[in-house]
Amino acid sequence: MTDSADLGPREAMEYDVVVVGAGPAGLAAAIHLKQLNPETSVVVVEKGSEVGAHILSGAVIDPIGLDKLLPEWREADDRPLVTEVTEDQFYYLGPSGALRLPNFGMPKLMSNHGNFVGSLGNVCRWLATQAEALGVEIYPGFAAAEVLYDDKGAVKGIATGDMGIGRDGQPKSGFTRGMELHGKYTLFAEGARGSLTKTLIAKFNLADGREPQKYGIGIKELWQIDPAKHVPGRVQHSFGWPLDSKTGGGSFLYHLENNQVVVGFVIHLNYTNPYLSPFDEFQRFKHHPLIAPTFEGGKRIAYGARAITEGGYQSVPKLSFPGGALIGCAAGFVNVPRIKGSHNAVLSGMLAAEHLSKALAEGRSHDEPASYEAAWRSSEIGRDLYKVRNVKPLWSKLGTFAGVILGGIDMHLNEKLGFSLFGTLKHGKPDYATLKPIAESKPIDYPKPDGKLSFDKLSSVFLSSTNHEEDQPIHLTLKDPKVPIEKNLPLYGEPARLYCPAGVYEVVYGDEAAKKDPRFVINAQNCVHCKTCDIKDPAQNINWVTPEGGGGPNYPNM
Ligand SMILES: Cc1cc2nc3c(=O)[nH]c(=O)nc-3n(C[C@H](O)[C@H](O)[C@H](O)COP(=O)(O)OP(=O)(O)OC[C@H]3O[C@@H](n4cnc5c(N)ncnc54)[C@H](O)[C@@H]3O)c2cc1C
Ligand code: SF4
Repeated sequence: MTDSADLGPREAMEYDVVVVGAGPAGLAAAIHLKQLNPETSVVVVEKGSEVGAHILSGAVIDPIGLDKLLPEWREADDRPLVTEVTEDQFYYLGPSGALRLPNFGMPKLMSNHGNFVGSLGNVCRWLATQAEALGVEIYPGFAAAEVLYDDKGAVKGIATGDMGIGRDGQPKSGFTRGMELHGKYTLFAEGARGSLTKTLIAKFNLADGREPQKYGIGIKELWQIDPAKHVPGRVQHSFGWPLDSKTGGGSFLYHLENNQVVVGFVIHLNYTNPYLSPFDEFQRFKHHPLIAPTFEGGKRIAYGARAITEGGYQSVPKLSFPGGALIGCAAGFVNVPRIKGSHNAVLSGMLAAEHLSKALAEGRSHDEPASYEAAWRSSEIGRDLYKVRNVKPLWSKLGTFAGVILGGIDMHLNEKLGFSLFGTLKHGKPDYATLKPIAESKPIDYPKPDGKLSFDKLSSVFLSSTNHEEDQPIHLTLKDPKVPIEKNLPLYGEPARLYCPAGVYEVVYGDEAAKKDPRFVINAQNCVHCKTCDIKDPAQNINWVTPEGGGGPNYPNM
């Protein structure tokens, strides 16, 4: 491997604000910086081949953020959200039946009235055009691979990854050195489990005194269905089957426009059984008698997966550090019972922009924007998350059924009386520490996919249009290459084979029949950048780093 310094100097460009990630948080921050002062120079780097290519969400979108950022958005001919929620259904599933929960019994904050169903990827594509019209520079296809620090230890920007390094670590023909983007401030908007955000949280001890961040893995498909079965604006959620009562998670099914329906499943990554395969749970879920009829005769057109933050209020790290701040799901602003984070992503981008704009106007740079950290808990983001702070811990501690009931009562109390019976509950262990050994776990026998409603991993990854340059260093790095076979395999059956929704990890045997001479194989080119391995590996041995910019999924409207 060639040392980065031997590859020659990098060119540098100077900006007022550098933004990492063109999701709703990063784009909202960029737009609002320009709205507050058109002279502010702002650059956004995005690792996807285009804006939206790596965005995967539900999505039912609470427009509170968009309404604040671009109040005229509803009048725009090319507005990215057109379908308002028309029906809100919530089910508890058994293996062959379903119990619909009455809407009048639900806490008001769970209502989707006034929300929109749509594609967050398309919202981002539209936000990017708005940002560019205001003069923001956006560079898709460029991954921020390294945080740059000044001699006082403050963040001074990022470096994009080198292009054209071979698997052996040596530059190939066509090698291009990465760029340095220097900012007076840098905003990290990488979404859930950002690879640079992770290093910042460690370096500046941002998680000290906070509960561990919690996550789920969301797996999603987009279908074109029979028009006779399409009900634009219908929103359906379920919990229960196929998960057992100790495994948290649930489904979402939304009818968009043009006879398109999204269906997905979120499994909380604090599950304990190493035999569990989130992908296969999702596939069998689609065979439930409540769900299957919607898709019979339809065609699956896209597939993908992404981690979602679930720790909420008590897990949000400190947001500011010298030279920058975290926004959106890099900080973990998802309201878990509502399965919504895009509104808070936009609001946090705007809030950070307000504090940076003020700092820039005062001639400051590279100091800590501490006023942003001080402001978020009393903002609409803090209020949104505070009310639901005990729901996820109650689910985890009490199991699905009792947890959902008590979580519902707790939300009612918070909503009506402004308090919780439980104070603020803790989450307990981080997700990587929750697996039981295989010796103490029950194997799960998943049905074979039928190729009509359920599918295998490889044909699914094909529908994510994932593409990576094959001759490049593997971006799923192992701190110790011996751990998968020597520790994870005997203890947990090497769970990466099962939790990865893209079939990246395999254990291959020299002698398959006798299960002898196992080898750990990483098919890095299949990676859909969901970040689950970085979160769930029990030894915390897998470190996801950015591959060459532009690599990864190419989601259409996910
Ligand atoms: C399955 C699922 C369902 C969901 N459903 C809903 C819903 O119905 N409603 C809702 O409101 N929210 C929902 N959410 C949550 C919502 O998607 C997030 O809260 C939101 O996307 C967070 O926005 P963000 O801008 O912080 O991050 P993201 O949307 O994740 O965007 C981050 C961007 O940064 C880029 N990036 C990351 N690292 C780098 C790097 N190093 N260099 C360059 N670019 C980088 C990524 O490619 C990506 O484009 C759901 C999430 C999931 C996973
Ligand atoms: S390798 Fe990791 S990040 Fe990539 S798809 Fe698999 S679990 Fe997700």
